[in-house]
Formats: sequence, C-alpha cells, structure tokens
Amino acid sequence: MKVNFISLAFALVVIATCSSFQVSKEPKKPKNIIIMIGDGMGVSQMSASYYYAKKEPNFSRFPIVGLSKTSSGSHKITDSAAGATAISTGKKTYNGAIGLDMDKECAETLLEYLSKEGKSTGLISTSSITHATPASFFAHEKSRKSAASIAKQMLEAPVDFFAGGGLKYFESGSLIKDLESKGFSINTTGLDKSPLRLNNTSTKFGYLLASDGMPKMINGRGEFLKEASELCIEFLNKDEDGFFIMIEGSQIDWGGHANNSQYVISEVLDFDQAVGAVLDFAEKDGNTLVIVTADHETGGFTLGGKSKKVPFGGLVSDYDEIDPSFSTRGHSSAMVPVLAFGPGAEMFSGIYENTEIHAKILKLLK
Ligand code: MG
Ligand code: ZN
Repeated sequence: MKVNFISLAFALVVIATCSSFQVSKEPKKPKNIIIMIGDGMGVSQMSASYYYAKKEPNFSRFPIVGLSKTSSGSHKITDSAAGATAISTGKKTYNGAIGLDMDKECAETLLEYLSKEGKSTGLISTSSITHATPASFFAHEKSRKSAASIAKQMLEAPVDFFAGGGLKYFESGSLIKDLESKGFSINTTGLDKSPLRLNNTSTKFGYLLASDGMPKMINGRGEFLKEASELCIEFLNKDEDGFFIMIEGSQIDWGGHANNSQYVISEVLDFDQAVGAVLDFAEKDGNTLVIVTADHETGGFTLGGKSKKVPFGGLVSDYDEIDPSFSTRGHSSAMVPVLAFGPGAEMFSGIYENTEIHAKILKLLK
C-alpha cells in the first residue's frame, strides 16, 4: 500500500512536470510557409465542398481552425486588394491598394521579407498573376487597376517561380524578354516540367498560361492549380533556407460575383484538390506551415433548403435538398475561415483581424 502511494506521488510529479513543460514550450519554427487564399471563400463556400465533393474534403485534414475579420482600412467590406495586402503586409489599407498602407506608403510584403531572409518564393493564381491577390504579394501600386505597371514590377520583385494567367499584360509591355534577361525561363504553353530539370541556365521560372484569367473549372481548366502547386514546391524545395509560396484559388470570388453556385462550388472543389497536394507535401516534410484562408466572402452565399410548394398554397423549405443562393453580387463582411497545419499551427486558432495572420507568421519566425 505504501509503495503504491509513493508511485502515485511520483506519477503525479511526472504529469505536472510534463504538462507545465508543454504550456511553456515555444512553437516550433517552420522552415517553409505556404499561404493558400481562396478568394471569396467564406464558411458557406467551404461548407459547400462537404455536400458536393465525392469524398471528404482536404479541409478536414487541418487540426487548427480560426476565423479572420476582413474589414479594410477604408470600408466595412473589403475588396481583394486591401484583403490580400492585409495578409501580405500586416497593414489595413484602403480598398484598391496593392502593397501600400493607408498613407499610400510602401508596405513590405511577406514575400519580400522572407526573400531577404534567404527563402525562395513562388506565386500561383488562377487569375492573371497581376490581379489584386497575387499582386499584393510582389507589387506596390495605388490602384489595383494598373495591371501594366504591376506586371512591370515583376522584373524587380524577388519572385523565383510564378504560374497563372496574364500573358497580355507582359506582352503589351514587351516584358517577356526583360524577364528572360533577369534569369527567368518563361513558358506560355503549359505546365511543362522539363525546364525545371534540364535548363541549367535559368534560375527562375514563369508560367503565363492565359491571356488574362485562367479558364473556369466548368470550362475545362483541369488540374492546373494542383499541378502548378506541386511543380512550385518541387522546384523551391531545393533551397536549404526554405521557401514561401502564395497559392490562390481566384475564381471562387468570380463565381460569387456571377451568383453562379455551380461556378463557386467547382472552384472550391478545385482549390481543395490543391490544398490536398500541398498537405501531402507538408505531412511528409514536417517543417512546412500551411495556412488556408480567404481575403473576404463573396456573394453572401448560403446553403438553405429548396423552397417547395405545399398543398393549399404557401412555400416550405425542404430540409433534404440544398439550394445554394446568394444575397449580393458583391463581397460581404462575414468572417472567413483560417485553417492551419504544421509547425506553429496552434497560433492560428481564435477570432482575429486579417492583419494578425502576418503578425503571427513573423512572431513564429523570430
Ligand atoms: Mg483574387
Ligand atoms: Zn471580388
């Protein structure tokens, strides 16, 4: 009996020591950081993937979930420029601003900062690579509409890999040759892997695969987002100092603006496929922090029951049949999900401003 008391006391001391050790433990510093932005992907858009996917969505693989408040510095409802700038620079700004603060001063982006820290960088988007979301990671511009000027800024930006649409903005400024003279291998035909493996002279890779935005999923875009993400990881993972990648599912937003639920859902499912590929890498790697979030919600999208007529007049909502619908052609102020996986992921639970995503990443790296 006495022995049992001693071993019990010993066990309690061990438990107390271990749990206090865990509480004070600093989060592990990630080597690689991948931010995935579903443009316009609110909680309802993400929920839709659970009703329309053939198997459990990859979103379920995240252990940590938070919510981000998306209002901009100028409006209760943000646009994609201010939304992405908040994530990339940690600063609330006015709607339309690309990589600038409220005073129109340059704000350093995560991509620029992490490049200075020695990491390789990549940008992938299903819109033009000059569009508001990717632009807010490499450019600084008073208006998101200045696509030509944004394209030109790619020449000086510390970007090692990019893939998306927007060829016309680079062609009209004769920027393809300029990019090549800066060490880029530019591909305008497809996600050909061979340049990455065979070309020893190029150190950077750019894929411009559509004149402006990439085709819609419902028009046959195929697996571009997933394959470009895998290609980018394969290329940048050679850097011993790690990498930073921003991957955008741009057209969830465009489906919302069009109030086209089939468009929205197909784009969310495509985004989730890219999320799965990224998580496959991150799980094996063990040193990669993956954040999945959105800049804002688009369309006031909801998943109510289909209205059905009942005998003797009147309508009821059929709780067995979902009828996705919209409340606006614009964005909404609804909070958006933040999913986190990998070293430091636990920092991303809770409800916070979109600018905190940037602050939490910097805190983890210091
Ligand atoms: Mg966007
Ligand atoms: Zn939008």
